[in-house]
Amino acid sequence: MQESLKAQWEEEQRLLQATREMQAMMAKVRQSDQGLALCVQELKAERSRLEDWIKEHNLVKKDLEEALSLHRPPINPRRRTLVLDINGLLMKVGRSRSDLVAAEKNGYDVCGTAYAACWFIPRPGMAGFLRRCLEWFHVILWTSRTERNLAVLVRACTKRGLFPGNFQKEIKHSWSQPQCESFQTARENHKDGVLRCKSMSVLYDHSICERDVLLLDDSVQKNSTNHPYQALHPRTFDPMKTAKKDDNYLSSVLLPVLDKLRFHQEDVTSFVEANWQAPQAQEPFGKLAAYWGTIDARDKAFI
Ligand SMILES: [Mg+2]
Repeated sequence: MQESLKAQWEEEQRLLQATREMQAMMAKVRQSDQGLALCVQELKAERSRLEDWIKEHNLVKKDLEEALSLHRPPINPRRRTLVLDINGLLMKVGRSRSDLVAAEKNGYDVCGTAYAACWFIPRPGMAGFLRRCLEWFHVILWTSRTERNLAVLVRACTKRGLFPGNFQKEIKHSWSQPQCESFQTARENHKDGVLRCKSMSVLYDHSICERDVLLLDDSVQKNSTNHPYQALHPRTFDPMKTAKKDDNYLSSVLLPVLDKLRFHQEDVTSFVEANWQAPQAQEPFGKLAAYWGTIDARDKAFI
């Protein structure tokens, strides 16, 4: 009997031990669940911290932008005059058949004019660029081509809707060869042996002070009779070498620089001197635009 009781006791002890082990194991599982729950909780807290950090980061960024805008000088009340070259800056005008084919291969739509079998290709973003220029400056178009050639190009652009609405009414002047100052030069440099400069002296007849005038011309020679810092010389538009999809020069490089000019308080020459140490070089211009920031997004509505 004692043997039987002893065996029963041992069996109960074994079951008890097994139960304890089971309870311990269950406790571990519960602990593990709790651990998992804690992990989830911590992850949620971490995410919340991250969201707060992002909010804080945005707030800091916004504050920084506000602070920068507060420190930005006001727009100069003297509205500047911008003189725009046509060929090489706003468009490519040409006659060569091989150039035409090369440009078409690069994705450009070539526009033709009936006059002298002349063709032209507007630079991408031209309409948006001109609209912004009209908004910020007094605008003068000035080409060293003939008066007739200018009239044909302007008419063709207007007809095709390549100029912003009312462009012809809003610009101050459209000038051509008669307003240029001409010099005899070597025929190998210029087709007709004449260098035509865009001299600021013409502006006196129109009561425009040259300290408020910026000439934009891809040719450095056209500024030969002026102060060297009277002009900026943007990269020549070359649709034969640049694919259409890769040319956002007007909106991404040139407009940011002009945007900066609006806030410049001194003469235009001091702006050019400060931002363009070597007028012939292209690189500082791009660097300046990169610093000042693209205005592609702001300009989308216009392009
Ligand atoms: Mg030019």
